Amino acid sequence: MIRAALGQRAIPVAILALIWLLPLCTAAQAAAPEPPWPAAVSEFKSLLADLVALDTTNPPGNELAAARRLKLLFDQEGIPCTVYESAPGRGNLVARLKGSGKKRPLLFLAHLDVVGVEKDKWASDPFQMAERDGALYGRGVIDDKGMAAGCALTLVWLHRAKVPLDRDVIFLAEADEESGSTVGVDWMQEHHAADIAAEYAINEGGATELEQGRVRYLGLQTSQKRFVNYTVTATGTAGHSSMPPPDNAIVALARALPKIAAPLPARLTPTTREFFRGVAEIQTPAVRAVMEQLEDSTRLEEAAKVVEKLPGMETVLRSTVVPTILKAGSRSNVIPGSAEATVNARLLPGTDPEVVRAELERRAGEPGVKVTFKPYNRPEPPHSDFAGPVVEAARRIAARLFPGAPVVPIMSSGATDSGTLRAAGMQAYGIDPFPLEAADAGRMHGNDERLPLKSIEPGLRLLYGIAREVAAR
Ligand SMILES: [Zn+2]
Repeated sequence: MIRAALGQRAIPVAILALIWLLPLCTAAQAAAPEPPWPAAVSEFKSLLADLVALDTTNPPGNELAAARRLKLLFDQEGIPCTVYESAPGRGNLVARLKGSGKKRPLLFLAHLDVVGVEKDKWASDPFQMAERDGALYGRGVIDDKGMAAGCALTLVWLHRAKVPLDRDVIFLAEADEESGSTVGVDWMQEHHAADIAAEYAINEGGATELEQGRVRYLGLQTSQKRFVNYTVTATGTAGHSSMPPPDNAIVALARALPKIAAPLPARLTPTTREFFRGVAEIQTPAVRAVMEQLEDSTRLEEAAKVVEKLPGMETVLRSTVVPTILKAGSRSNVIPGSAEATVNARLLPGTDPEVVRAELERRAGEPGVKVTFKPYNRPEPPHSDFAGPVVEAARRIAARLFPGAPVVPIMSSGATDSGTLRAAGMQAYGIDPFPLEAADAGRMHGNDERLPLKSIEPGLRLLYGIAREVAAR
């Protein structure tokens, strides 16, 4: 099946490579030329179709086939690359364009695995990319195979154009992002850290928000919440259900949970403070005024309640806690001696999980209810600076591609692999290159995932532009 897919695609890719070279042969050695974008978009679609056709649903993953497809591309282009099999069938690929070494490398990261599909709910086969209604449909087109194809081709295009580089440009296509990255970037960091070491990194996790066909803002993810599972345990007297004692563990847990799950206090972090300053300018005067109140500690709570009703801002201002698992009892006539809930917390950067634990236990207010958690064995990764060459490049490119859209730092509520990169000392930025309406962004992990055709060229220009501006001499 893999061979068939490769065979079908090999010729078009070769032809595209030739088309590509024509303008370069005739053009003067202009400073850092741009790819011929219509041909570049076709090449992207062809590569993306191949990646989508390789089912990398995780579990089990099988990303090795997708890593080998990318290796074929890099081999054809003469770009050095290595595939690492981190576990049977699990593949990570590292490709590297050499620079002069004057500056430390720039790393692009994308994941090759995808989440599962409910095939019967899709209008077409999720693993055969289809073009209709002005969009490409297929599992992974926006998460994250579109990014993978765009990053891979960014290296290819820099290489074909012979752009002189002051730093290496590395591409890591990783396995396992959707299930914790144990055999993906974490494994690479543990076993081959030198091969992916970089000063700056570009990963998924940003926001290029489209509204009525215009990009409102370009969000670069510079920090993320951290997740902690708290275990809430209630204890009581066990016994026969015909003789109920007053201290029932299930009842105590049920009383405690609503108090535990109530909202925690609102707080601005360095990232979200700058985010609100940046996006305030594109709001209505009324919303802008409320966003400005967030900076006044006496009005923060009141303003937060308004801001949290805006789409996309629901979880920006607080750490969140939510019960996700309940365990109690085994027989209908036996009163259990204990009842347990798992409460999943997403903590704002700079939050001490022990302080939250103590607060949750205080809120429970029940002598028989205890809250525990397993402390981290690693310190919290720092946030990336919202300054420096990546941010400056993004600003310049956004001014050309998306006039009027501010570039702002964002904090993710979910965990991304940028945490691993930051812990390794890199300045990592989450960028979602392809502009998406909220409804399309919402198809990520859902049915009929799609990438609008109109978003492809700006996304590719953004990735290529950042690589060129950050790495070229
Ligand atoms: Zn993803």
